[in-house]
Amino acid sequence: MRESYLLALCLTLGGALAAISLLFVRRERALRRRLTRDELTGLLSQQELHRRARAWLGKPQGAARQGAFFLISFEHYAQISAMLRAGEDQALLVLVADRLSLITRTLGGMAARTGTDAFTVCVPEVDEQGAAQVSAKLLEDLSAPYDLGGRPLIAVFRIGAALYPEHGRSVEELQRCVQVALVPLKERGGPGWNLFDFRLLARQRDQQGLENDLRLALTTPAMEQFELYYQPVCDSGTGVVQGCEALLRWHHPELGSVSPAVTIELAERSGLIVPLGAWILERACSQAALWPSAWRVHVNLSVKQMNEDGLVQLVTDVLASTRLAPRKLVLEITESIFILHYERHVKILNTLRDKGIGVALDDFGCGYSSLNHLRHLPIDWVKIDRSFISALESDAGSREVVSALFGLCQAMHLPVVAEGVETEGQREILKSLGCRVMQGFLLGRPAPASEIQALASAVS
Ligand code: C2E
Ligand code: MG
Ligand code: MG
Repeated sequence: MRESYLLALCLTLGGALAAISLLFVRRERALRRRLTRDELTGLLSQQELHRRARAWLGKPQGAARQGAFFLISFEHYAQISAMLRAGEDQALLVLVADRLSLITRTLGGMAARTGTDAFTVCVPEVDEQGAAQVSAKLLEDLSAPYDLGGRPLIAVFRIGAALYPEHGRSVEELQRCVQVALVPLKERGGPGWNLFDFRLLARQRDQQGLENDLRLALTTPAMEQFELYYQPVCDSGTGVVQGCEALLRWHHPELGSVSPAVTIELAERSGLIVPLGAWILERACSQAALWPSAWRVHVNLSVKQMNEDGLVQLVTDVLASTRLAPRKLVLEITESIFILHYERHVKILNTLRDKGIGVALDDFGCGYSSLNHLRHLPIDWVKIDRSFISALESDAGSREVVSALFGLCQAMHLPVVAEGVETEGQREILKSLGCRVMQGFLLGRPAPASEIQALASAVS
């Protein structure tokens, strides 16, 4: 009796011990998984990818002769996720990760999630040509539409690639190289891939110098290195000028003319856009005050300027000091300003509109855009991005998109400006779609204030 009792006790204790040790094993496994895997996507964590890559790079010479790192950046993920329903943003990342792991598995490589919207892939035994093939494959497969509850979504990816051992001999070096390789793609916009090049590092160092030069240029009292060019915005039928867009030009003392895309990006990154933007607004308004009363002046506003507290006051003061009628000013913004502080920015724009100032949504259709979103935005104009216009003659798909966009804007009583019109063919197609206002080299290139003033004098 006593023996059978002891036996039962032992069995129970043994069972409990087994259960406890099983629990520990499971806990440890979960913990290890959490350290080595990204919880959401199941891809490797950054630490684990680096650990495994180190082991791979550390192999004796000859074992791992070559290899490549790829940094995959999911462009505009924050903007896209802001427009998705709850949970869909995460589901989208999982779909992307599933595709990535499938591709890397077939290539014998490994993939990790290394940021909210960034992934790193590491593939052994790959040379320059192989890196090009892997990048092209990654871009092709990741760019195919994603199905989110029956709604197709197209995402834009950019890939920076670097080779072991040519570009870096350690994981840290390779990780830095792939980041640098992404920079030219960001400047160019759109999807694509780029292989690291040591000249990019030198350029990055130069940019530090360029930022310094910009800072210096802003301290010169007459701001003589800066100039505003103006590009006419015209009636599509008659060609009559309705206004002009102010476009910044920076005449660097040694480098000559610096591209506005570079200047504005640099100014935004460094925060210098705030004083520079204030100068642009003041200069544009004082020059526009001399134009015919029917002409408006379009001034581009950057996100950083929208985030500044004193924007409404600045615009009010500038209009007062230059004596420009508020209805003659159109502020051009891009959709990106609505990603953060949506309500605050809507309020600011409505305050400005209440004063009679116009607001145009610039570069519409470029990158991410939401047609549903459009109806809620405090805007008076929509400017369709040049990328759609340039494809009008060759691509029926672009024609359909532009046609749908015109239909939608007409239904919302939102006037549309077509940007970047270069050919008669584009003008005719746009006119047939009901486009009344255009801007582009066909109608007039950006020109210095004096040339625009001569045109203005001829009109008035
Ligand atoms: P944006 O505001 O969309 O300005 C239109 C750009 O398209 C200008 O480039 C203009 O020269 C170019 N463009 C106009 N028509 C044509 C055409 O028919 N064909 C081609 N290929 N290009 C055309 P730009 O002057 O290089 O300016 C580039 C961007 O830099 C502007 O795009 C704007 O986003 C920014 N930017 C320029 N000036 C300012 C400024 O004063 N403030 C701010 N915040 N951004 C500015
Ligand atoms: Mg613009
Ligand atoms: Mg534009």
